[in-house]
Amino acid sequence: MDKSVAVQLNHEFKEKGPVEALRGLASRFEGRIVFTTSFGIEDQVITDMIFKEEIPVKVVTLDTGRLFEETYKVYSRTLEQYQKPIYAYYPDAEQLGKFVTGKGPNSFYLSVENRKQCCHLRKVEPLGRALHGMSCWVTGIRASQSQNREEMRFFEWDDAFSVVKYNPLLQWGLEDCREYVKVNHVPYNVLHDRGFVSIGCAPCTRAIRPGEDSRAGRWWWEGNSKKECGLHSH
Ligand code: SF4
Repeated sequence: MDKSVAVQLNHEFKEKGPVEALRGLASRFEGRIVFTTSFGIEDQVITDMIFKEEIPVKVVTLDTGRLFEETYKVYSRTLEQYQKPIYAYYPDAEQLGKFVTGKGPNSFYLSVENRKQCCHLRKVEPLGRALHGMSCWVTGIRASQSQNREEMRFFEWDDAFSVVKYNPLLQWGLEDCREYVKVNHVPYNVLHDRGFVSIGCAPCTRAIRPGEDSRAGRWWWEGNSKKECGLHSH
């Protein structure tokens, strides 16, 4: 499989809504399709679609060990509500132990390099294991989340992990997600009601002010660095 599959799927699925597309992809990539959730509002919408419609997509989460208590609460409530498995992936204990022993627990505030190293150990490496043997990776990315996401398409080829990525909510706005969770009684992270839009690790996420870019609350001390953690290469 190579990047031509993304072009082909963009053409083939262009008229299909998220649920129909997820069904079609689940049968095409049987046992090789995975959705990664961090329990943000977009991810909760997709989780609801997958679980409620019983679409055979493996749902996984990357527990960095530094998440908000509120995130663990919505994680638990999601398990209770749907009674379906969410597979948890953790950082490699030995590698992370070496990093924290050498640099301390909060070294990500000291340099971009440390921050990227921390993101690599806590997110990117576990993601690599979650995507191992997979062909299709479903994500909760929305185009309006930040400028460098605006040029994305529904299907993209991910060179780093050699999978085709599907972004079902690419054209959804935040209000569409809010409406969906309200109408469908989907559990959501209460931090969204307190000005948090994109929710990641607790020490690296803050609420945003009106008018700020939705990813301004991530690694805010870095100023204009690209606000991505290495999970999504564009
Ligand atoms: Fe580490 Fe912060 Fe990245 Fe989480 S978001 S993995 S705590 S640098």
